[in-house]
Formats: sequence, C-alpha cells, structure tokens
Amino acid sequence: MDPNKLNHGEAADAPKLIKTRPRPAAARPQVRPKAEGWTQLSGPDGRPTLQFASPRVKQPQTHLADMTLAEREAKVVELGLPAFRAKQLSKHYFEHYTSDPELMTDLPKDRRSELAEAFFPPLLTEVKRLVTDDGATVKFLWRLFDGALVESVLMRYPGRITLCVSSQCGCGMNCPFCATGQAGLTRNMSTAEILDQVVQANRVIAEGGLGRKREAGNGAEPERVNNIVFMGMGEPLANYKRVMNAVHRMIAPSPEGLGMSARGITVSTVGLAPAIRKLADEDIPITFALSLHAPDDELRDDLIPVNSRWKVEEVLDAAYGYYEKTGRRVSIEYALIKDMNDHPWRADLLAEKLNARGRGWVHVNPIPLNPTPGSIWTASTREVTREFVDRLNAAGVPTTLRDTRGKEIDGACGQLVATEQDKRDAAAYAAG
Ligand code: SAH
Repeated sequence: MDPNKLNHGEAADAPKLIKTRPRPAAARPQVRPKAEGWTQLSGPDGRPTLQFASPRVKQPQTHLADMTLAEREAKVVELGLPAFRAKQLSKHYFEHYTSDPELMTDLPKDRRSELAEAFFPPLLTEVKRLVTDDGATVKFLWRLFDGALVESVLMRYPGRITLCVSSQCGCGMNCPFCATGQAGLTRNMSTAEILDQVVQANRVIAEGGLGRKREAGNGAEPERVNNIVFMGMGEPLANYKRVMNAVHRMIAPSPEGLGMSARGITVSTVGLAPAIRKLADEDIPITFALSLHAPDDELRDDLIPVNSRWKVEEVLDAAYGYYEKTGRRVSIEYALIKDMNDHPWRADLLAEKLNARGRGWVHVNPIPLNPTPGSIWTASTREVTREFVDRLNAAGVPTTLRDTRGKEIDGACGQLVATEQDKRDAAAYAAG
C-alpha cells in the first residue's frame, strides 16, 4: 500500500505521515475465497453447485395477494357474491393489514369465514422477533405453511422505513461469504408470501412495534414501509415470475396493491445476466442493484459461483443496459473483505470498467463484510476501506460506504439463516 494515500482527504496542514519505503504491491496478501468452517456443496466437476430450480415445489394455497384485482373479482363471483366484495377484501388486507374475518364487518356475517378461507390461507406465522437499535431495527423469523423458515428485517431511518424482504427459502447461489447460501435452496417463495412480509411489517408499525412512532394527525399519512430491498434470503431473479408479480402488486394502487412508489423498491442480484436483461425490458422504474464484489473474473469466479455462467463483462453490460432502458442509476454492491477483494488496484480496475461504459450511470456501495458463522474472513480495515472509496470517487465514480444495521441480531446483509436455535423455536412454537 502506498503510505501517502493514508492521509487522503485530510487538511493540508494535518500532520504528515512519516514516510516509510513503499512496500511492493506483492506484499499485500491475496486471500483466496473458499468456504471456511462449512463445506460448500459441489458437483462432480468440483465446482460449487448452483441451484436454479427449487427442490420443494409445493406452494401455499393461492392467496388474495397472488391474484390481480380482476382475478379476485372473478373468484368472488364464482362464490356467488357481487364483484365489489373483492375490493372490500383487498382493502382489509392491503390497507388495514388484516385477514381476520371477525374484523371485516362490512361483509355479510354468514359469509365472512368462508371468504377468509378462500382468500386468506395463513402464510407467515411469526416465530420470533429480535429488536435492536433502541427499537429502530427489528428482525422477524417467519414460519411458512410447510415449516420452511424465512426472515425479514425492518429498519427505521430518518424519513423512511425500509423492509429487507426474502424471496426464497434459503438460496441456491452458494456464495461462500453469505450465511444464507450455506443451507442451500429449499423452495421459491410465492408472490403472496413475499408480499405478506410487507403487510405484516405494516401491521407491526401500525401497532407501534417499531421504536418511537411518529405522531399521525395534521393530515399526515400513517407510517408504513416505504422502501423495500430484496436483500433478504434468496436470489430474487432466480424466482423471477413471483418476485415480479410481487413488485407489480407493491406498486399497484390500493385496493389492487400497496400503492408504493417503484423508486422505493430495490431488486438486488448476484448477476443472472439474462434475467437482468428481462428486467430492463419490463421498464419499471425500480432500483437495480448488482452484487459484484470483484471486478476481475479470476477472483469473482471463486467468490460468486454464478460467475462461471455470466462473467463480469457480461453482467456489467446487462447492468448498463438496465440504466439505458430505464434511466435509473444502477447500484453496485461490494462487500469489502480483508486482503481478498479490497486491493487498491481492484478499486482502479472497477472504476475503469464502469467508466468504460459511460459516466453518471452507476454508483458503488461498498459495505464492510459482516461476519458469518464459521468464516475466518474479516472486514477490510478502515484505512483500506477509505482508500478503496477514495479511489473510486477520485476516478469520478460516485461511491458511498453503506450503513449496516442489525449485526447484533444477526440481521445484517449475508447473515440471514435459520439457525438450529431458530428451528427449535419454530418447533416449540408449532407444538403450542
Ligand atoms: N441474492 C441477492 C440478494 C441477497 S444478499 C444478491 O446477491 O444480491 C444482499 C446483499 O448482501 C448482496 O449484495 C450480498 O452480496 C451481500 N452480502 C452477502 N453476504 C454478506 C456479508 N457476509 N457481508 C456483507 N454483505 C453480504
């Protein structure tokens, strides 16, 4: 490392560092990624397994949130009721966050439980809730109809409330630094299971379950989730159809959906290039994030197993295509791992590859690695992190270090996994 770089950004009169002889670049070790403390599932060719198809195919019974408003109306009519009942049911769910027939007093009393059965099969049962940051961060552990466990993380920030949602039970992408990947993929989540995370979070907020509540009144809208990041468990683009249906319902105006702004929704992917191109063609102004983590194929092949299919150049082209099509600035995620992907030359190479495609189309979000069970890797040091960020900014690539929340409750990026304790809690819960 060049010691002169250490006082980057400091005032000119700041005390100068004592110059030591710059160490040759080779002195910076290169740690290679490999699973530590657990065995990465691998195929006959010795490469880490990638699971695209979900092993467990059974999905929950169709729920109101799986359907468009027209489909709900057709179903209501099928049950011998007028179509407008579909709107009432939808309002209960998407505006009042309830699926309890007793509370739906505008529906005929003798049909309430039948309607609830037809439209609201139980999806997510809360098993556990962990709270930190003075109540401003909440991690939920949910049990699905077939016993599968998923998590979501709710975070209050000044001016916004973010929910980090899961899109699959487990994940088939097998990234060695992410805890979710270690357990493999159980199944895809349904559209309604994805949406129910948001609806349940909104209910918890309305009940005052997220820290200091802002007072409603004076015409202010009641608080609810207004920012969604698909950064929980799973690879959203490997569950493309259900995830996109969920996105459509998030932005559909009430009572069809949640009436959220597309700009407040971020879909993050490990880099499934064909799916990124498809997403661009949908032309919805959501925010697109690419988990790059390395600018060179040599390292990315080991760090992100799916890089064996779609290389750095191809995913960057696909990401740039997203910007071209939608005009939305793309985010590049980069977990900084000590001595693995945090070398200054990699910051330069990343800047070069991004700038080669144009200016103003992208910003980089480095994030210090969060610890995962069994891993010996650690986050980059502060100096190295700062130099990485500074080099990108100096090259004209807007770069901001991402805030990380929920580490104390294993709720931060890459830490979501159903632990043995979670499984015991879920079993105890199911046993009553
Ligand atoms: N599968 C999607 C979304 C889930 S992960 C994806 O890969 O983008 C959300 C983000 O957390 C991704 O950028 C992922 O690479 C990052 N991440 C995973 N493990 C991490 C860890 N241990 N520390 C920091 N970030 C991590």
